[in-house]
Amino acid sequence: MPSKNFVLGIFGGGQLGKLLAIAAKRLKIKTCIYTNSIDSPAIYYSDDFIIGSYLDKKKLNIFIKKISIITFEFENIPFSILKNLEKNIPVFPKPEILKTLQNRISEKIFLNNIGVRTTEFKKLKRNKLKSLDNNFFPILAKTINLGYDGKGQTFFKNKSEIIKYKFPNDKYILEKIVNFTQEISVVIVAYKKKIFAYEPIENFHSEQILRQSISPARISRNINEKAKTIAIRIAKKLNYRGVMCVEYFLKKNGDLLVNEIAPRVHNSGHLTLDSYNISQFQSHIRSVCNLKFIQPKKIKNAIMKNALGKNIYKFRERKANNKEFFYDYGKMYVKDNRKLGHLTKVY
Ligand code: ADP
Ligand code: MG
Repeated sequence: MPSKNFVLGIFGGGQLGKLLAIAAKRLKIKTCIYTNSIDSPAIYYSDDFIIGSYLDKKKLNIFIKKISIITFEFENIPFSILKNLEKNIPVFPKPEILKTLQNRISEKIFLNNIGVRTTEFKKLKRNKLKSLDNNFFPILAKTINLGYDGKGQTFFKNKSEIIKYKFPNDKYILEKIVNFTQEISVVIVAYKKKIFAYEPIENFHSEQILRQSISPARISRNINEKAKTIAIRIAKKLNYRGVMCVEYFLKKNGDLLVNEIAPRVHNSGHLTLDSYNISQFQSHIRSVCNLKFIQPKKIKNAIMKNALGKNIYKFRERKANNKEFFYDYGKMYVKDNRKLGHLTKVY
């Protein structure tokens, strides 16, 4: 058990930070949130918070004086900042892991190097577009860093389309579109000496944003095992601590490709709040704070729907029954496609 003065520092104040802070409170662990926005629902659930830029050295110094270890709810914190903080205070997951995974190219190179298959990709070279193979299309161009919920992604049907497009710089990855039959994800939690994989979750996106997740995923036993085994292998290779999520594309012929890895709790894992005895949030807190391992057990099947943008109003008005759990994140601003809440039904 951490000492009385132990405080967990969390970078990011969105819904993931909020759900982490709530999980920590249940475990009697104090939290301090560091966020760059006043519209940060997590600050109402933490014991303390700081609002400042992620580059503000003075405020970061105040932050580290308040806390015992650091974790984060999103992966786009500058590596140099985390690496610097790590001189004084442990950071989980390790900054080096974040560095590899926050860059879509180094992430895929790492995966391919350990024998894990990904989508086919190339780095954008604006002056070499004409030499691209026609068979490489259709593709998605994605910003190498800083993308989420489909932000920074552009679709190109063929070569003539991309040749006409004005990219502002070369910091893009070109990814061949995968003709998948299903998208699945596996949330794992890595303690010091133990790794556990939650059951694969099936995910439905539209406009590159997650809309719905279901557990169990409707996949064969063989794919189920394979997805869990790959995720655990990745975590072992990274020497990971905390919760991590691996997103996959499953093809008709059974090929399982990794789309991307999130070094944090994940939207698809929200359904673990109501369908497992130990949610992804509890698992993350337990593992990074070095508490005793508790094996999560699935207690229900579940379906989770995201409440995006103005849809939140409909969710708020719905009458819920005792098999439905509605989470209103409490964000100030309603914007199109912004994740504002979710509803989980168990069965
Ligand atoms: P983000 O970081 O925004 O989650 P992703 O790379 O996971 O970015 O893309 C979001 C979604 O867009 C995916 O879950 C999938 O539905 C779709 N997508 C992304 N890349 C591809 C691809 N190469 N082929 C087919 N669909 C894709
Ligand atoms: Mg994704």
